[in-house]
Amino acid sequence: MKVAVISAQGDVSEHVEITEKAMNKLGIDGYVKATNSEEDVAESDAIILPGGESTTISKLIHASSVAEEIVKAAANGKPIMGTCAGTILLARHGDEQISKTKTKLLGLLDIWVKRNAFGRQRESFQATIEMKYVGSFEAVFIRAPAIVKTGENVEILATLDDNIVAVRENNILALTFHPELTDDTRIHEFFLKMR
Ligand code: GLN
Repeated sequence: MKVAVISAQGDVSEHVEITEKAMNKLGIDGYVKATNSEEDVAESDAIILPGGESTTISKLIHASSVAEEIVKAAANGKPIMGTCAGTILLARHGDEQISKTKTKLLGLLDIWVKRNAFGRQRESFQATIEMKYVGSFEAVFIRAPAIVKTGENVEILATLDDNIVAVRENNILALTFHPELTDDTRIHEFFLKMR
């Protein structure tokens, strides 16, 4: 199995490391590659879009045909996971900040996202969430977006207060937090098993 971690910007190496650990645990043969090349993305069996700055990542993936290859991969049923800024990019519907910054979204997931939804006081925090299929998980939020609304085919996997923080729609998984910043491989294992 070949997993591509889009390396435009953000916490790329953390995703590579934890995905390798998850593959080892599951006994899956293959490799994980940090890449921003359209060939690598086209050849991959699964794709991770890390967190970072959604405006920057959007520009970089649209500067080549990487964005197009991600859309093709999604249409071919390959598992795709977005975390934090990655979730913003997967969304079909953005908020005012997203339209003001003219951030192009991939539109692969029928969700409405709000950037920096937790406000200044809670820029970065940790919380225990209950995630469907995974269980209790220590989630790290950093200037996190929230999913404020979901389309009818979107399965809600976790919430925190009134915010939706994890969802799945067919082969697309999206989290507003950072599972790659913990040692817990369960979410990455769940993602790899979506294949
Ligand atoms: N606030 C960032 C954005 O809107 C996302 C933060 C993150 O990915 N940790 O792009």
